[in-house]
Amino acid sequence: MNHFRSMTVLWILLFSLISFALPAKSGQTVSCAVCGMDTKTDARNGFESMHEGKTVHLCSFSCSLKFHAGHLKSPLYGHDFSSGAKVNVESAFFLMKSSKILKELEFGMPPSVVVFSSRFLADKTQAQVGDGEIIKGFEAAQKNLH
Ligand SMILES: [Zn+2]
Repeated sequence: MNHFRSMTVLWILLFSLISFALPAKSGQTVSCAVCGMDTKTDARNGFESMHEGKTVHLCSFSCSLKFHAGHLKSPLYGHDFSSGAKVNVESAFFLMKSSKILKELEFGMPPSVVVFSSRFLADKTQAQVGDGEIIKGFEAAQKNLH
């Protein structure tokens, strides 16, 4: 009985050590699958896709376009700028051509494009920064880039 109890204590200690040592799932630094630049798994202007069963991280709208062109059947998601939630790009709202949003981003490089799950959230951020255009859907956003 004493042996069993000490083994239990040992296992609890071991598991708490392991879980403490493991990095948090969100906010990890990863490489962009297209340009190789460091990005975060929860970057506010980041995009994600799936390829061969693995999550692919993309640092920006520009890199998401390049990835999508070569992987048309892979689902593409953007990170909602306000909540961080994954949003399918087909139904997302894009705030584009805002120069002021750059200051809000960790890796702010033009063209600054951020994603929202709803028109309401996009409008709210646009009102806060005071510039930019809101475009619905990935295809329209792509066309609006140039
Ligand atoms: Zn990239």
